[in-house]
Parts: sequence; structure tokens; C-alpha cells
Amino acid sequence: MWGGAKTRWIAYALGCELLAVGATGTALATGFGGAVRPGWFAVLVALGVAQAEMSRRIERLRRWMSGQMHINVTSVWYLAGVVLLPPAWVALLAVVLYTHLWVRVWRQVRTRPAHRFVASTAWAMLSCFAASSVLAVSGLHGTPLQTPRGLFALCLAAAVFELVNVGLVAAGIYLYTSQRSAADLIGTWEDNAFELATLCLGGLAALALVEQPVLVVFVVAPLLLLHRYLLLKQQLQVAAVTDEKTGLLNTAGWHESATREHARVQRRGAVGGFAVLMIDLDHFKRINDTYGHLTGDDVLAAVAVAISGSVRQGDTVGRFGGEEFVVLLPGIGRADVLAIAERVRVAVGELNVVISTGSGTVRVSGLSVSIGVARHPDAGPTLDDVLRTADAALYRAKEAGRNRVAV
Ligand code: GH3
Ligand code: MG
Ligand code: MG
Repeated sequence: MWGGAKTRWIAYALGCELLAVGATGTALATGFGGAVRPGWFAVLVALGVAQAEMSRRIERLRRWMSGQMHINVTSVWYLAGVVLLPPAWVALLAVVLYTHLWVRVWRQVRTRPAHRFVASTAWAMLSCFAASSVLAVSGLHGTPLQTPRGLFALCLAAAVFELVNVGLVAAGIYLYTSQRSAADLIGTWEDNAFELATLCLGGLAALALVEQPVLVVFVVAPLLLLHRYLLLKQQLQVAAVTDEKTGLLNTAGWHESATREHARVQRRGAVGGFAVLMIDLDHFKRINDTYGHLTGDDVLAAVAVAISGSVRQGDTVGRFGGEEFVVLLPGIGRADVLAIAERVRVAVGELNVVISTGSGTVRVSGLSVSIGVARHPDAGPTLDDVLRTADAALYRAKEAGRNRVAV
């Protein structure tokens, strides 16, 4: 955190963590919100841990694939905790469940720095604490849930929990990344619908625990299913933009990224600019004719690795079907584009692909690519203009004898 994060994020994260610990400690010392019923606490810890254990594999995959928003399915137990436990104890419930998640899932995935996980824990504690405090202060804590007043208390708790949580997370994302769009900060409608479904299950779990504890079993199955569905949705989102053979972006995925970059450049005025490399393997048909299509596919995958390895971290590499690749290079000057295109050409030329087939190993080398280069805004104002110009340049590279870069 000290080395990589912005100062304002560090201040915010530490502030939230201090507040979470301070509020919980003070409330514990003063007995705010009434005495704890240790039985409820133990039951909720047991349920939260059991659910997390049952869906460890799903959660691990989700964390590994995770984008910006992460819907935490265990929040179902926090809402139950909010109506059943005093504020400090719900916050402790969050600490216990997050610690368990840390040990059993997060530690083995580590898709993002540890301090962000700690901040998430503090946000969960604060959301729990705030929702439970509102009930305690308004005298609604402990109202029998089957009465209209109890139902109101449950809805109020859910609303406060959600609002505080969304606010804390949105502020965190903004301070960490400077993103401003609503979808980035508070998630899409669909994300929020999932969050609501989780809270509904939390309300049902609370009711069940008070009225007839064994009924909580009926909450667990839909919860596991919801969790699976969340993973499935993520997998579909990734599959929709990924090229299966190479793992690069497919045409749709590349266009989506490129359109975003184009819009960014338009907004900021033409400073910086971006460039496109259109890359086509030379005489690739011969590779297929000599070694067969399956070997050809392996060569395509190796070329994809060579291209990705020759460009910068933030550049967008895609496969436009066939043996044609395309790279978007944001914020780049004319001279640097040529240097990178040349680097790609040399990297493919130096490739020595070793492929094991059923009948021994095959070595493929002596590959070459032709590359067409175009830059925005020199080639025209739209993304289409830039692509067309790069494509025309590629044709000229082919006509001029292949294995070269044309602008
Ligand atoms: P050049 O571009 O230098 O003119 O020659 P080329 O042989 O590469 O020309 P062309 O673009 O006409 O042919 C592309 C060939 O790429 C045709 C097809 O055999 C092969 N190809 C296209 N897609 C795939 C694929 O997904 N897998 C494999 N193995 N081959 C493919
Ligand atoms: Mg070709
Ligand atoms: Mg081609």
C-alpha cells in the first residue's frame, strides 16, 4: 500500500479501518445496543463458515476472474446478524467471516493487493455497524419480526446496510482508480439486483432463525445456486470477448476496448493519439498444408504469445479470426509505433515453435508477418478510418514482398 497506492486512498482506507475498529471497540466496552445472545452469534458464524466452505471452489474461481465489482454472497448472514445481534457483534461477525474467506480463498488467489481486502473488511464492518445502530437508536432492535413494525425494521436495516456499503465501496473505487462512471462506482443494475436478492435471502434467514431455526436450510440451497449463477455470468462475460484458440480478445472484445479508447481520446482532445497494428501471417496456408490444421492452430497460439510479449502492458491485442491479429497502442507517438511494429515482426521471425503431435515432435520456424500501421487522428477521425487505413497499409506490405511493416 505504501509503495503503490495514492495518498488519498491510503488516508481513506486507514480512516475507515480506524473507525471500524474504534466503533466496535467502544460499543463492546459500553455495551451499546444491549447484551449479546452468544447463541445467535455462534449460529451465524457456523452458517457463514459452512456456506463459504461449501462454495469455496466457486468463490476461488470468481475471485480469480474478478473484475471491478465483487458481490459478496456472505452478506446474507450480515443482514440476519443486523437484526439479531448488537452493533459491535455484527461487526465482529464480519471480521470472522472475512478472516475465514482470507485464509481459505483469498490467500490462494491474490488477484489484488492485501490492503484492499482489509479495506473491504472494514467497509463490511461499518455497514453492519451502521445498520444495527439505526435499529438500536430507533428502538426497533429486538422487535418481533413477524409484526408490521418488525418487517419495517428488517427493511430499514437492509436499506441502511446497502446504502452505507455502496457509498463506502464507491468512494473507495473512486479514490483508488479515479473512475467516474456510475457503472464503475456503484455497479450495473444487474449487480445491484443480485445484491438485493442476497439481502432478501438474508431477511428470510433472519426470520427463519427467530421463528423456526431449521427453516434456515431452505435459504442455503438458493444461496448456493445464486453463487453458482454469479460465477456462470462472469464466465459468460469473459467467453463473449475471448478468442478460444489464442486467449486473446476476439473481434467483439477488441472492438469494445478500442471504442472505449477512441472515446477517451475524443473526450480529451486529440493529444496523445493511438495507433493500430494490423498483422497478417505470411503464407500461412503453407503451414497448414505441410503440418495440418491442428499444428497450424498451435502455431497461431505461439504467434499470439509472441505478439503480446512484444507490446506494452496496456496495449490491446486481439485476433480478427483467421491468421490476422490486431493491436491497439494507446497514447503513442509516430516513431514509437514503428519501433513496436518492427519488434513484433522480429519476434515472430525468431519464433521456434516446438509442437508434440501423436507422431513425434514438429518444429516450425521461419515464420513471418506483414504489418500495416495507422495512427489516429492522422488516418481519420473515426476508429473505422484507422482500421481501414491500417488494412490498406497491410495490403501494401504484402504487395511489396511480405515480412515488412508499411505505414
Ligand atoms: P498471405 O497472407 O501471405 O497472402 O498468405 P496466406 O496463406 O496467409 O493467405 P490467406 O490469408 O489467403 O490464407 C489464410 C490461411 O490461414 C487460410 C487458412 O488455411 C489459414 N487459417 C485461417 N484461420 C485458421 C485457423 O483458425 N487455424 C488454422 N490452422 N489455419 C487457419
Ligand atoms: Mg496470411
Ligand atoms: Mg489473412
